[in-house]
Amino acid sequence: MRGAVIHAPGDVRFENLDDPRISRPTDAVIRTVATCVCGSDLWPYRGLEPIGDPHPMGHEYVGIVEEVGSEVTSVKPGQFVVGSFATSDNTCANCRNGWQSSCLHREFMSTCQAEYVRVPNAHGTLVATDGHPADEFVTSLLAVSDVMGTGWYAALAAEVRPGSTAVVVGDGAVGLCGVIAAKELGAERIIAMSRHASRQKLAREFGATDIISERGEEGTARVKDLTGGIGADSVLECVGTAESMRQALHSARPGGNVGFVGVPHEVRFDGVELFFSHVGLRGGPAPVRRYLPDLIDRVLSGRINPGKVFDLTLPLEQVAEGYKAMDERRAIKALLTP
Ligand SMILES: [Zn+2]
Repeated sequence: MRGAVIHAPGDVRFENLDDPRISRPTDAVIRTVATCVCGSDLWPYRGLEPIGDPHPMGHEYVGIVEEVGSEVTSVKPGQFVVGSFATSDNTCANCRNGWQSSCLHREFMSTCQAEYVRVPNAHGTLVATDGHPADEFVTSLLAVSDVMGTGWYAALAAEVRPGSTAVVVGDGAVGLCGVIAAKELGAERIIAMSRHASRQKLAREFGATDIISERGEEGTARVKDLTGGIGADSVLECVGTAESMRQALHSARPGGNVGFVGVPHEVRFDGVELFFSHVGLRGGPAPVRRYLPDLIDRVLSGRINPGKVFDLTLPLEQVAEGYKAMDERRAIKALLTP
């Protein structure tokens, strides 16, 4: 089969790779129906994370089950499945508590920009849809496997409640999905921080009531203007830089909460500032598996359409162009179809 391999910053190639096989009885192999490039894939692509030896890429996927190991009974060959970037047995103590992305047997997916993918812990990771979903739903189901699940977690971690005010820091795919999540969870006012016209438009379509294009202290001042001078009840931090985390902390009111889902790079906290802020913090890799059945239902019932974050569709063999377009911010998110 063929798949994406990163060799060096800016150098992703579509190459021949060994066909994945069932190596443990808890594995499944799926044929990829759709995969994509994640904002977090850009960290190594931009040379901001070490690459080491050339290796496959990708952690978002929907597909058709080809083969399952002997211990996998929850899905069977021929079914359309949605999974998560973090695999989980869905039975250990952390999974039972709803923290499947801290599963004691967790393995992160990392080879999904390929024609076939081996999924470890398949029994507890993959959720099959009823029959093959209509084509119009495939991209939104793909979004559920990572960006929508992560935006959902950001909103829950920030404790978005009916009638509350939420700020979303970051207008990438996760931030935009965070807007959807805040809306679904009943936020009355949703303030999206974005400087890009096309992303502002999508944020509004997804439910943002206000847009703030300023950043830093000016951005914080604008948030306070819109929130009676105190800051927002909930802030979804969806970037992962020192600046975005500061923006998020300063945008929350005393007693408010920040859900941070951007993988932190060079983020440091000042204990004294945090102490006096009265702001609650919860973050980490989203336990997407916990939300899959609900989010799949919301997609298939037409309630949410997170697939709109994909604004570039390419054949999988042009995966390198997908990285390039996202790196140059010509695309929010590149969809790849084998
Ligand atoms: Zn587990």
